[in-house]
Amino acid sequence: MVTAIVGANWGDEGKGKITDMLGQESDIIVRFQGGSNAGHTIINDYGKFALHLLPSGVFYDHTTCIIGNGVALNIPYLVKELADIVAKNVPKPRILVSDRAQILMPYHIKFDEYEEERLGKASFGSTKSGIAPFYSDKYAKIGFQVSELFADEKTIREKIARICVQKNVILEHLYRKPKLDEEELYRTLMEYKEMVEPYVCDTSAYLRQAIADGKNILLEGQLGTLKDPDFGIYPMVTSSSTLAAYGAIGAGIPPYEIKRIVTVVKAYSSAVGAGEFVSEIFGEEADELRRRGGDSGEFGATTGRPRRMGWFDAVASRYGCKLQGATDVALTVLDVLGYLDELPICVGYEIDGKVTRDFPTTAGLAKAKPVYEKLPGWKTDIRGIKKYEDLPENCRKYIEFIEKELEVPITMVSNGPNRNDIIYR
Ligand code: GDP
Repeated sequence: MVTAIVGANWGDEGKGKITDMLGQESDIIVRFQGGSNAGHTIINDYGKFALHLLPSGVFYDHTTCIIGNGVALNIPYLVKELADIVAKNVPKPRILVSDRAQILMPYHIKFDEYEEERLGKASFGSTKSGIAPFYSDKYAKIGFQVSELFADEKTIREKIARICVQKNVILEHLYRKPKLDEEELYRTLMEYKEMVEPYVCDTSAYLRQAIADGKNILLEGQLGTLKDPDFGIYPMVTSSSTLAAYGAIGAGIPPYEIKRIVTVVKAYSSAVGAGEFVSEIFGEEADELRRRGGDSGEFGATTGRPRRMGWFDAVASRYGCKLQGATDVALTVLDVLGYLDELPICVGYEIDGKVTRDFPTTAGLAKAKPVYEKLPGWKTDIRGIKKYEDLPENCRKYIEFIEKELEVPITMVSNGPNRNDIIYR
């Protein structure tokens, strides 16, 4: 059976932890979109890890981890991340890389940096991992697919030359930066070929066979609905689809095989990068939530920058769940909220004097003011609790209020960053 684990919010919902946890009963874990731009924090018996490109299933010796065709494949990063976990005594995981994945080139990272620098104050708040330039090239049909590394030298050199003509005009005249060198690019690609060769195969065929054999497969999403290029807060979004539906494409499996869509929802809001964020809070109130949030404060796993904070947004989260096609919700980081006397929940957006429960397009978001309902806090530490009935009454009321708003059953409640901090309902 195929299960997707995806985010309903702006990312950083705790998908890594849920994937690591569900990995226990899985055979294969697949990354299907994005690249090394966002991180998943995982705390388990081996220690604490911030994974960026590797699927969060690499900690088990019974799993195979796949980098699907939809991923932005930074080859040296993949090799480094593998070496880093092995250095921390994790057994070397079984990794497969799609022969149709495209390669994130060093110039994609440069173009990302140069563009953010050019935009100045109007920048996207990119992690500068090269993701937007990478996906632009993929769809402009000037990307390198892994399979192309195995072409003959003449074919590869001709393609490099074609790409350099275009890139160098922009580098010289728009960014005024050093031009690309064809010879260096060829050498880079040959190094990449050597690094990636042991892992390359037709992962789509592998997965289709695994489905036929009745294997348990997890598709691990990165970021969340609100960063999706179509359904998110465009243009402050990421450049690949963050939706479970895209899991079929980014992994190369039939869409009807995705039977369960575990949508991870965070018990409060956090976001990185620029963009509309209706229930955002500021000042001391935000600082305190940021300090107490996640496993050790809400700071980006890739950049270390402070995340923007906000109260739970039922309008955005319901929309986030609907677009994912959520079958189950995993509500995470609930333990963090135990310090509050009361918990505001954003239940509506006031736009031009009218209150709506529907998530608007970006122009509407820019005008929206949050409408809050307040619930009483539970004022205790809920970490270590294993049974739903043992949670304080006000905590259960908060969960049940959110469940009603989301219109999807909350089947898991995460009350701590560790693999075992989970309450099944
Ligand atoms: P992802 O990108 O969705 O995997 O999320 P991140 O790993 O970037 O962010 C989630 C953060 O919350 C990490 O620091 C996790 O260790 C932490 N975390 C996940 N679940 C829980 C939870 O239930 N309670 C607490 N306190 N921290 C959690």
